[in-house]
Amino acid sequence: MAEKEEFAFQAEISQLMSLIINTFYSNKEIFLRELISNASDALDKIRYESLTDSSKLESQPELFIRITPDKENKTLEIRDAGIGMTKADLVNNLGTIAKSGTKAFMEALSAGADISMIGQFGVGFYSAYLVADKVSVITKHNDDEQYIWESAAGGSFTIALDQGESIGRGTVIRLQMKEDQLEYLEEKKIKEIVKRHSEFIGYPIQLVVEKEVETEVEAEAEETEKAEGEDEDKPKIEEVDEEKEEADKEKKTKKVKELVKETEELNKTKPLWTRNPNDITAEEYGAFYKALTNDWEEHLAYKHSSVDGQLEFRSILYVPKRAPFDLFEQKKKRNNIKLYVRRVFIMDDCDELIPEWLNFVKGIVDSEDLPLNISREMLQQNKILKVIRKNLVKKCIEMFQDIAQDKEAFAKFYEAFSKNIKLGIHEDSQNRTKLAELLRYHSTKSGEETTSLKDYITRMPEKQKDIYYITGESRAAVENAPFLEVLKKKGFEVLYMVDPIDEYAIQQLKEFEGKKLVSATKEGLELEEDEEDKKKFEEQKAAFEGLIAQIKEILGDKVEKVLLSNRIVSSPCVLVTGQYGWSANMERIMKAQALRDSSMSSYMASKKTLELNPDHPIVQALKTKVEADKSDKTVKDLTFLLYETSLLSSGFSLEDPSGFAGRIHRMIKLGLSLDVDESTEADVASDLPPLEEVQAESKMEEDLLELPDVFELLGCSGFALLLSFLSSLTAASLEFYN
Ligand code: ADP
Ligand code: MG
Repeated sequence: MAEKEEFAFQAEISQLMSLIINTFYSNKEIFLRELISNASDALDKIRYESLTDSSKLESQPELFIRITPDKENKTLEIRDAGIGMTKADLVNNLGTIAKSGTKAFMEALSAGADISMIGQFGVGFYSAYLVADKVSVITKHNDDEQYIWESAAGGSFTIALDQGESIGRGTVIRLQMKEDQLEYLEEKKIKEIVKRHSEFIGYPIQLVVEKEVETEVEAEAEETEKAEGEDEDKPKIEEVDEEKEEADKEKKTKKVKELVKETEELNKTKPLWTRNPNDITAEEYGAFYKALTNDWEEHLAYKHSSVDGQLEFRSILYVPKRAPFDLFEQKKKRNNIKLYVRRVFIMDDCDELIPEWLNFVKGIVDSEDLPLNISREMLQQNKILKVIRKNLVKKCIEMFQDIAQDKEAFAKFYEAFSKNIKLGIHEDSQNRTKLAELLRYHSTKSGEETTSLKDYITRMPEKQKDIYYITGESRAAVENAPFLEVLKKKGFEVLYMVDPIDEYAIQQLKEFEGKKLVSATKEGLELEEDEEDKKKFEEQKAAFEGLIAQIKEILGDKVEKVLLSNRIVSSPCVLVTGQYGWSANMERIMKAQALRDSSMSSYMASKKTLELNPDHPIVQALKTKVEADKSDKTVKDLTFLLYETSLLSSGFSLEDPSGFAGRIHRMIKLGLSLDVDESTEADVASDLPPLEEVQAESKMEEDLLELPDVFELLGCSGFALLLSFLSSLTAASLEFYN
């Protein structure tokens, strides 16, 4: 006897197996789909290898999948002549290395997902335990001996050299069926399941069936059989009554029925893509999609096309109903398009076939022109493939445009794949405009609906030249941003771009149908003004010069510039960013990317410009204060407060949150007429930082004593205003502290 080695299942896999075994679940038949799908994958692999080295097939020249039910022993075998597994493959692939899908699938299950989704998570093999108490995997790879893997779950499996019958090459999955799952040994049931789930598998699926065949035997032979008595192991022989007379006529021959084993091919359908689209039903497209992808749901849309001419190829492309759990995971397979050459499967991970942003599109391409024995390296340079790729992108976009005709379907599509579309806008300069037509955003005017850029343009007032947008963390965060004040007042619509990827897409898009896309949070927002407004603004600019210079001096290099602005209506100031640098939102996104190369940040990091609202009472009061005494230190304190609050209201994060909190607390005390001189225990404990942080030597008491002065100056209403302004930021700051 060969020695058995025992291995422990990796913890998550073990957990998954008990979940599969113990969860009440009626639709267990999907195990067969999963095992057949694995068999087909294994066959694909050996066929691909054989294209460059035909000797690899010698160990088992016929490529097939064979299902053998054995009622007597209560086993079901699924055999394939695929690539097989080496001992190391067995250890790694069947139990010791968890895939990301293991945990993801369990999470999905507890969130209400269905077990039939298992294949999508890359752990389909374990579905065998839905119906089997014990699973044996007998496998032979060209590079290794024949091994047997066995497990009855319970946390461990064994591997040993297999002493059984030699299988040449490939794998046999032997299921010891559970007592209550014997229905899966029935011929009819198996045929039904294969038809339902595996019709489009590209290899013959053979079912070993027992057939009664009639053979003619001589009458004497009958005597001898009868003489042997009731030996039940012998084939049953019956007289066929209706034919008895005839038989009698011919004398001495009898018809007998005998049980023999035969294989029957279950999937004889021609590859779907070779057929005329007009002859293919919606059900067939649906079934093909499911077979291709292991998806449990139907597709959202498909596109079947053929290109004839200098090049000839056919393709069927599908958009799924939802995004897979690992759509943007780094290590995962890059695309889902299977490449065939003249009906022969070549590979399903050809990077050159379709760009990454289309990684959610599934389907097949069958080329008449590529050589069968094409290698990966050749594919990279291949001109034919480049043409195919371009055509596939075109077909995909046509398919998306078709989806856009149906509002409900498009909403689904957009929810699942808008990130891909935006990535496409970022990457594909040729198709950028067409893709931009698919964008949808909420806006200051869209209400609960979303709007396309085209629709936006139809609503633009005549005097509006550009398309305005604001980027931010969420709709709630941008809806009330101070940047929108003047645009709203003018009746200009602003698009809310709240997906991080919008920042990237918009960098590339720049314009749509001849209209510039302009950020409401960046500098250079040029708004048409009438002559009167212009004149007034010019006058204000001159009047505020002193204050502006003073504020710039106080803030130093915290801001790039200080300017007077006409973009704000009810806030005292905002912080805008340079046209080509990062927006506040982008800065937030980049900070969140822990592994990012930080060298970019030094020159991309937002160059902030503080824009002041000359019509705002706080700004006006501050101006008066500066004019009265240029070196007034309270101006400095208030400037810092204004700067910090506009950091928050403009979507940045605070550089010194506790310093800011300290300043606010003292404001609140003043508002509540508490004695600011008398520091409470809590104050002492929290060691509040001084109001003025630049001059370290400035004493806290001094600051506090001077504060009431400011309010005197601002007047009561000024103080109330400042307080209400600060409290309106509480929400923003709370969000920040979370
Ligand atoms: P997936 O098929 O998504 O990779 P499975 O859990 O179905 O996940 O299978 C796990 C792995 O086990 C496969 O990736 C493959 O390496 C190996 N495997 C399973 N069945 C077979 C088979 N019949 N022949 C060869 N390898 C197989
Ligand atoms: Mg699988």
